[in-house]
Amino acid sequence: MASNSKFRPIETCPNGHFYNANSYGDTCPVCNAKLNEDSRKTRDELVEELTLKHEDWVCGWLICTDGVNKGRSYEVRGGMNPIGSDITMRIRILGDPGVGSRITRYF
Ligand SMILES: [Zn+2]
Repeated sequence: MASNSKFRPIETCPNGHFYNANSYGDTCPVCNAKLNEDSRKTRDELVEELTLKHEDWVCGWLICTDGVNKGRSYEVRGGMNPIGSDITMRIRILGDPGVGSRITRYF
């Protein structure tokens, strides 16, 4: 959607680069891709896209103090945080035989 504002500060090119459209117009300065009408976003659309939902806010960290992951930290977010080695786990811990594939613990 094209911005109706006279200020078009941020555009996203088809390859995902953000740039200042007031300086570079419809051509991405990184990859020279041209914007098409569908790739233009308004400031409000960008703010909505970049704003984290409440359940995605980081509210703590789990820090491993022993084993192969010693010193590694994991973000704990709002809501349930299932822990395991499976790719579907929110907190994914790999290489530790004490951590099962699915839901060892919840936070
Ligand atoms: Zn680009």
